[in-house]
Amino acid sequence: MTSVLVRDVSLNFGTVEVLKALNLDVPEGEFLVLLGPSGCGKSTLLNCIAGLLDVSAGQIFIKNKNVTWEEPKDRGIGMVFQSYALYPQMTVKGNLSFGLKNAGVAKDEIEKRIARTSEILQIGPLLERKPSQLSGGQRQRVAIGRALVRDVDVFLFDEPLSNLDAKLRSELRVEIKRLHQRLANTMIYVTHDQIEAMTLADRIAVMKGGVIQQLDAPQAIYNRPVNRFVAGFLGSPA
Ligand code: ADP
Ligand code: MG
Repeated sequence: MTSVLVRDVSLNFGTVEVLKALNLDVPEGEFLVLLGPSGCGKSTLLNCIAGLLDVSAGQIFIKNKNVTWEEPKDRGIGMVFQSYALYPQMTVKGNLSFGLKNAGVAKDEIEKRIARTSEILQIGPLLERKPSQLSGGQRQRVAIGRALVRDVDVFLFDEPLSNLDAKLRSELRVEIKRLHQRLANTMIYVTHDQIEAMTLADRIAVMKGGVIQQLDAPQAIYNRPVNRFVAGFLGSPA
């Protein structure tokens, strides 16, 4: 089954066409990486899928349902940003439970989900701390936890590791990969980092100028780039 379907989506900021009749099919359970240089429209596309931006034309389907005009909260997606976007005045536990309380989830169900999330992301010892008492890597774990605790169908990541140092980046990369193997749900992951893309992706969509240039398995793109731009960006052998 297709999990996320983008059909002829265009997005204009004023007279600038940032996404150009873009199409994308993401099968259920796939780890898809959107890879491309800064300004090519990766975040814009992710925000359209999340419902944080309205498309100018085209349609978006999640699990076969047309969500083009649905509120973000009704799309069954969880989003993790580059900056952690945690509530600074709340504890980690408060951050994890806030959305669930608002959605009317029962108290014992909230406790169950927090326990499971803490176990998966190993943040149990951090639950009573405030975000200011966490390292960057720990904050990003909690940000992932906030999506996990909501039991969403689709995870959307927008450069979640780019604020971290190299060591933490590679550690969290492994953890995100493990998370995907364990949950087996759909993940769409935006990055401009080729190594991140090559190590995480089932398939990579290489973007430039609001258009997907090539969509394929990492090795296939690396070995058989369709044009010079893709070859140059992936560092494929000449
Ligand atoms: P990426 O995430 O690939 O770096 P973005 O999706 O953030 O790229 O941006 C794509 C293009 O759209 C860029 O040229 C950017 O300057 C432009 N853009 C992004 N947001 C806005 C906005 N709110 N208003 C006008 N232009 C924007
Ligand atoms: Mg971006």
